[in-house]
Amino acid sequence: IIIAQDIQKWYGKFHVLKGVSLTVNRGEVVVIMGPSGSGKSTFIRTFNALEEYQQGKIEIDGITLTDDLRNIEAIRREVGMVFQQFNLFPHFNVLQNITLSPIWVRKWSKVKAEKVAMQLLERVGIVEQAQKYPGQLSGGQQQRVAIARALAMQPKIMLFDEPTSSLDPEMVREVLDTIRTLAADGITMVVVTHEVGFAREVADRVIFMDGGLIVEEATPFNFFQNPKEERTRKFLSQIL
Ligand code: ATP
Ligand code: MG
Repeated sequence: IIIAQDIQKWYGKFHVLKGVSLTVNRGEVVVIMGPSGSGKSTFIRTFNALEEYQQGKIEIDGITLTDDLRNIEAIRREVGMVFQQFNLFPHFNVLQNITLSPIWVRKWSKVKAEKVAMQLLERVGIVEQAQKYPGQLSGGQQQRVAIARALAMQPKIMLFDEPTSSLDPEMVREVLDTIRTLAADGITMVVVTHEVGFAREVADRVIFMDGGLIVEEATPFNFFQNPKEERTRKFLSQIL
């Protein structure tokens, strides 16, 4: 459902992605790990055209990414994204945050959008917060609103970029549990995270990036028990 072929990107003279290829099958959960600055965020942001690239090819659910605006919109409808910073609209309440895109982009009626939003809030476990504003919620609750908001567009793929790294430790679990239930529902996911327990239990594959390249790719078991590359071992020794 995701095919990224030989993606290369430069920021000026800085070669940030040096030929990264990844294929993700429908229903698969892929975790990407790697040191800061290795290009993880840049890479997954190319999937929904949040980041340009100079070489390579991306195909999402059979649609080849081009720079045609309609094509980009079609791809973005398939790909939901959740960021480290929740990026909620502070002056809109939870329900409005979730229904905004379905109403404007999908042209749903307010009634339909709100009905779906309430079901999603139920699914992420914060249905009682619907009328609150982001500033009245804990970080973990805000992140679950961000997840519900992405799901409201009914994407086939969800991208998570370090969804728990700005959360206090006690809130990490509730957000990871939410993501875990999505995985169990069969949504295709690419998750940048350093949460080892999550990767072990939920990932079908772990990808290790360093210096703008995929250095190693393995099942979670092999990745953590028996990494092949020296760079992977060094990284794991720092996080385990
Ligand atoms: P982290 O774990 O810290 O989030 P990352 O693996 O996600 O790191 P990226 O954010 O993809 O790394 O950044 C890769 C490299 O590209 C970094 O060296 C970063 O400084 C550089 N970079 C990112 N955005 C820009 C930009 N807009 N202009 C120039 N360089 C950038
Ligand atoms: Mg990043």
